[in-house]
Amino acid sequence: MNQDFELKELGQIKYFNCRELDNTNLVVNAFTTRTGGVSGTPFNNLNLAYNVGDKESHVAKNRKIILDALSIDYRTAVTAQQVHKDKIALVRKEDKDKGAFKYSKGIGQTDALITDIPGIPLLMCYADCVPIFILDPIKKAIALIHSGRKGTELELTLKTLFKMKKIFETNPCSCLAAIFPSIGPCCYSIKEENKIDDYWLNQVEYNIEPISLKNKGVRRLDLRKANNVQLIKAGLLKKNIFVNEICTADHPELFFSYRRDKGNTGRMAAIFMLK
Ligand SMILES: [Zn+2]
Repeated sequence: MNQDFELKELGQIKYFNCRELDNTNLVVNAFTTRTGGVSGTPFNNLNLAYNVGDKESHVAKNRKIILDALSIDYRTAVTAQQVHKDKIALVRKEDKDKGAFKYSKGIGQTDALITDIPGIPLLMCYADCVPIFILDPIKKAIALIHSGRKGTELELTLKTLFKMKKIFETNPCSCLAAIFPSIGPCCYSIKEENKIDDYWLNQVEYNIEPISLKNKGVRRLDLRKANNVQLIKAGLLKKNIFVNEICTADHPELFFSYRRDKGNTGRMAAIFMLK
């Protein structure tokens, strides 16, 4: 694994941490794995989403396990009802605990959360989609993004930076961003005859190619690279973007994968909080 990330282990629990974000001392950041929880098959063991068919009591227990490990009160986590669209929600003090115990109480129809309030843990769920963390260390504001294929095509990451500029007066040049494990191009192929959004065909800038046409008429989409392009487009510096290239579909021992498990699976969580 590249040196920008560390797989931390606490007993049975394993989670990824971005060292570069950690080194600012401004945030708590984690991307969980499936180890260390109480859920049964196919949600074994640390499923953190309420809306996938797992027992609510197991999910609440799992959230307590991982958030205790991060010294965060699990009852205060703010989550969203994620729908693969491009709505971005500004999280305020009164949103504290939204969705902590029930999916339906999460912030509605939202795939990106932003805040400048310390002590409010943002939590989003993933099984292959791309988790993107952004820190503005000057204005002390953060964003947590859930970007799958649709969110990428809608340029949710780019739009989130626009919103941070508008609300927090963020200067993207000073921001740090981390892209955590998600499905890699190795496991995300689409047959050439299947229609894909023009978005993918127009991404040839910045010497980063998020789509490649391989033999046997199969296109491979690189969601991480596409979101990396959006960060650069928004004005982030390449040196401030940290990418973890582990593929979630390739590691059943560590990750749930929607594609690999044909939809019947749990979710990892990204957890991001200003101190
Ligand atoms: Zn793969």
